[in-house]
Amino acid sequence: MKAVANMNADQTEFAARVGWRLLIGAGLGRRAGWRGLLCAILAGAAILRPRPACSATPEFRVANFEADITIPIGHACMGGGIADAKQILDPLFAKGFVLLGAGEPIVVVAPDWCQCNNDSYDRWRVGLASAAGTSPERVMLATVHQHDAPICDLTAQSLLDQQGLKGWNCDPVFHEQAVQRVATVLARALKSTRRVTHFGTGQGRVAQLASNRRVVRPDGKITWERGSASGDVFGAPEGEVDPWVKTLSFWDGKQPVLAWSCYAIHPMSHYGKGEVSADFPGLARARRQQDDPTVFQVYFTGCGGDTTAGKYNTGAVTNRVVLADRLYQGMVAAWKNTKRQPLRRIDYRVAKLSLPARDTGDFTLTAMRTTLANTNAPRWKRICAALGLSWRQRVEAGRPIEVPCLDLNTGAADFAILPAESFVGYQLAAQRLQPRSFVMVAGFGDGAPGYIPTDQCWRDGYADDYCWVQPMTESPILKALAEALGRSGIGR
Ligand SMILES: [Zn+2]
Repeated sequence: MKAVANMNADQTEFAARVGWRLLIGAGLGRRAGWRGLLCAILAGAAILRPRPACSATPEFRVANFEADITIPIGHACMGGGIADAKQILDPLFAKGFVLLGAGEPIVVVAPDWCQCNNDSYDRWRVGLASAAGTSPERVMLATVHQHDAPICDLTAQSLLDQQGLKGWNCDPVFHEQAVQRVATVLARALKSTRRVTHFGTGQGRVAQLASNRRVVRPDGKITWERGSASGDVFGAPEGEVDPWVKTLSFWDGKQPVLAWSCYAIHPMSHYGKGEVSADFPGLARARRQQDDPTVFQVYFTGCGGDTTAGKYNTGAVTNRVVLADRLYQGMVAAWKNTKRQPLRRIDYRVAKLSLPARDTGDFTLTAMRTTLANTNAPRWKRICAALGLSWRQRVEAGRPIEVPCLDLNTGAADFAILPAESFVGYQLAAQRLQPRSFVMVAGFGDGAPGYIPTDQCWRDGYADDYCWVQPMTESPILKALAEALGRSGIGR
């Protein structure tokens, strides 16, 4: 973990005020010599300039951007695990902003893609960092995780290419076009930034939307069979969810500039038939955007690896707008509950997280290589083998996952990103780590690990092949989370 940049507005304001006092003292008291007077004038003059070059008056600014990153017809959806794109119901966007004034720029972005894994994740961060004039570790990227959208893993696709399976996982040419498209609008947005003097925090309870995959059957057996559209399985309760949609916002005085919200749920009402869509979060986001076009809206999915709309959704096409409305109502409540405070300080931290690769049964190198080369194996199995091999290469190369955190006013509000399909227990744990802070955690950073269950889920018998990290890795994850939140040494 390392602290990347600190910017203390109070300190610089104080310096400017001292400059005034020196100027007044020198000018009126005539106690200083001409050198002292000149220094005092220079120091005091710093606050007279509207935008001082040396930033004596701290000023935070934002530039928001969005670009269409809809996949072309025929592109793989969900990494090739479901039907390829047949029609575009509504476009996929990357929406985000660049935050200026806290050292090197910080980029925050949420693409409407399912996942960016390994070198895809790196490529996005490098491409956007270059456009923003910052370093890749200062790009906070998390996908919204709609399933009728791509999972991109460039190494996995090159392994598939070697088997003659072009485009099974993703189209690297389109991938690069998408990165460039977003980088271009980001660079253009930097020409029209808006001042930020305050930030806001608010949360709203979402009713009848999220439920946990984990259900206890009438015979007492624990399963994770509740999917996005499975309906009210056994009448089981919602289980572990975070019922709050949280919204952070930036303001110029009393004028809201942008808002980014986060809610822990798999963002699908129905999927799998090649109908590309940003699904119900896309609808809720667009409706909030229409409410006030001057406030730019960004939406992240929280740690929703194990939470879905399943209890309230059977996949009926008409239910998409119903689910969208429930999320929308929560977002409206979060906005109404928003409290604003002056933005004085921004810290940015990145914790390094090394997760070990799964290495038993179907996850040994030999097994994955065999499956990848097996022309009789189902398409999804071969793709998963390529995804597993890509993750394995990355682990063996010693490239950790990064867990970034944007910290406003020293723990007043934190926005962190955890990797992949982290379970909601991690989001709740993050809130417990910083009980006095407004802690908002997105999941679906680097998507490479797949599902990341809590240790309790493993103990309860969790089993799924879409998971490339070893079981029982809660301890290093909580340690990284604590470091990112500025609470080093407080993991459990
Ligand atoms: Zn998922």
